[in-house]
Amino acid sequence: MRNPLIVTLTLSVLFSAPAAAQVTYYPDGNYPYGNGYRIFLSAASHNPDRGSCLTVQGYPSATENDLGWATSVSAADGFSDNDDVYPNTYDLTERGYTVQIGYTSYQENVNQSNAFGAHAHLPVHSNAEGTTPNCSTPTSRAGMWGMYRTSDNNSYRLAYYLHAYLAGLTPGTNDKLCLITTCVGSNLHEMEVSNAHTRAYLEQEFHTNEAGTKWMYHDLSWQHKIASAIDYHFGSPRW
Ligand SMILES: [Zn+2]
Repeated sequence: MRNPLIVTLTLSVLFSAPAAAQVTYYPDGNYPYGNGYRIFLSAASHNPDRGSCLTVQGYPSATENDLGWATSVSAADGFSDNDDVYPNTYDLTERGYTVQIGYTSYQENVNQSNAFGAHAHLPVHSNAEGTTPNCSTPTSRAGMWGMYRTSDNNSYRLAYYLHAYLAGLTPGTNDKLCLITTCVGSNLHEMEVSNAHTRAYLEQEFHTNEAGTKWMYHDLSWQHKIASAIDYHFGSPRW
């Protein structure tokens, strides 16, 4: 992220709707053969008709789906390519991963993830509270949630690293590392149907909190932390 012009252009591209049901990003230039790992980022794709509190606080033209897509693209390939000076800000392709981002229904996303042979399957959503039109979360209850499956150590480890890298960066002060059944109240389809070695579920922040929304919508400084968490989980195979 050394060139502010590139960052500005990237932001406008990020919020354009993708043309395909999924998009694949390949390992970057100076590491073309990659590290052999495939990551599927399953961007939020709620049916706009379904729902309550899908619209983003402070940005009525945007939805949770846009935030899920934008964050996934940034984590996959949003940072300056092959910038060996700053390896801490590498995105997933710079770390050697092949990444697919799904942007259809969650059922189709996980089916595609299995067809892709993903080593990790990570839904990228944001959280919400309330009922339309009263969708609101105070900063004291907002924050990221790294969620993991029952009795699944790989799931726990990735959720743990996501929490370790992102907690404290979010505007909300209630960041959580939590069991899916505890936080959501039931199992989640994608987490059960996925065949991936590692399955975790990310709620980036609450889009019913305006500060949280601004962080997801305008701040492009932190999404590479998702790449760091995934890379740490797999043992940083590039290095
Ligand atoms: Zn969601």
